[in-house]
Amino acid sequence: MLVIRAIEDIPEQSIKKDDLFHLYLVDAHHHMGREKTHRNTPTGSYEFFQLLWFEMRRLAERAIERDELLFEPVDAIPTPFVAKIFSSRDSWSRMKHGWLVDRTIVFPYSDDYSKQNSDGSASFKISNDKIAGWTTRAPHSSRLIGFARVDPTDATRGDDDIAVRELDRAILDLGLRGLKLHPLAQLFIDELEDEMVQRVVYRAAELRIPVLFDTRNIRTVTRIHQLVTTMREDPRYQESIGNLKVILAHCGMSPASPKLYDVLKDPAFTADTSTLHDQDIPLLFEMASERVQPRNWSETLLFGTDYSFLSVQGAEFILQALSRDFPGDLSDVQRILGGNTLSLVQKPFNSGLESKALSKQMACPNTSGTLRSQVEDALVQIIHQSEWDLSSVDMMIPPKNTWPRVRSVGDGGYNGIHHDSYIVTLRNKSKGYESHLWIRENPGDVLTVASIRTRGKDSVRTTYYATANIGEEIIRHLTKNTNYEKEEAPFIGSIPKLLGR
Ligand SMILES: [Zn+2]
Repeated sequence: MLVIRAIEDIPEQSIKKDDLFHLYLVDAHHHMGREKTHRNTPTGSYEFFQLLWFEMRRLAERAIERDELLFEPVDAIPTPFVAKIFSSRDSWSRMKHGWLVDRTIVFPYSDDYSKQNSDGSASFKISNDKIAGWTTRAPHSSRLIGFARVDPTDATRGDDDIAVRELDRAILDLGLRGLKLHPLAQLFIDELEDEMVQRVVYRAAELRIPVLFDTRNIRTVTRIHQLVTTMREDPRYQESIGNLKVILAHCGMSPASPKLYDVLKDPAFTADTSTLHDQDIPLLFEMASERVQPRNWSETLLFGTDYSFLSVQGAEFILQALSRDFPGDLSDVQRILGGNTLSLVQKPFNSGLESKALSKQMACPNTSGTLRSQVEDALVQIIHQSEWDLSSVDMMIPPKNTWPRVRSVGDGGYNGIHHDSYIVTLRNKSKGYESHLWIRENPGDVLTVASIRTRGKDSVRTTYYATANIGEEIIRHLTKNTNYEKEEAPFIGSIPKLLGR
């Protein structure tokens, strides 16, 4: 998390000079794997984020001298549970840095595996396997979120559904959580509105995953919007097209074009800010804040770095969001730097593994005040047993369009990310099943740990933290199936039993 300090009183936001705030950062655009001279792994990402932090500090000093900033970046710190995970083994603790960015959306390059094999299997099949390997195992699964890539033009070299089937495999079996499409690299820029592209995009809508399109100019942006408009009018796509979420990479590299903001008025669209630098950034903020109404403008932009194609340019973007010129408040900053991307992903991790038969819960009063930390220690122990792996840690977030005011550290530090309510996905490697553990601090200082099926009616299907979103059915089911324990030690001791079959 990025720790910032108010440089002066900001009465319109009820902020006092020297108030500290925590911002949770998500990089929405990041490559992993290999393409020509580019190469990146999780270790490379964390080192890059450390560099990004140094660059930001350097630029911030100059900006403060010129009196441009409202907030000064003062530190980059991990969230407590993720810090515990990375501290729990020597080889992991060497990667305990780069905490400026908390979570990162990673997807393949156009790498050696981006082309179809002679055996007719899908393009990117091996790349998607590699992304899943990096993003769904401890410790990186607590910091990375994997997106798949497919090539819709596979349909021209085999049967119509190769790319759709690869998307299904990547999302439903591997547990990847979004799709990246690159019309330029995969050479379908002239066929952008073709049936083969529509099939892939529609499947993403059915799977309720976001689709990030590479866009290099406003013409491509307009054509992607046209593609979606056409699909909305097609009776074949009626049922699920409403779930479609499109991310325009690099803001179409067109922050000066009014057409970009016309497209962003459409609630299905957002844009990532990677590649924007210098005067493009204030221009983007100014035009978006004036032009995307009635939509809330700060819900349309996602911070992204495009590492390793780009390096530390992202530092300029973050500082511009902390500057006097930024046309919004800290809640807008938090949305753009991380909240919006988490809202797009919003489904807890789920791979093709079956889950346990029953969802059930344990509850215990937090007498010591450290009960959640003890639970986290127990979870770290569990993922060090050879039987278990950690597929993801997904914090609960505010329901769509309800991002709250960011509170100062002195006032609890709440920024919309619930460190006191999150879902841990654990995979039993030998028995081949997975389980969601929902760790939650409840009113009355009672901590609950629930073991929940990952699919079906009594599962938690969203990280939007509201009963209406999570579903009354699962909440009622858990309340009915709760074991109450008065003492902390036996409560902690029975966590492994919750996971057992
Ligand atoms: Zn990229």
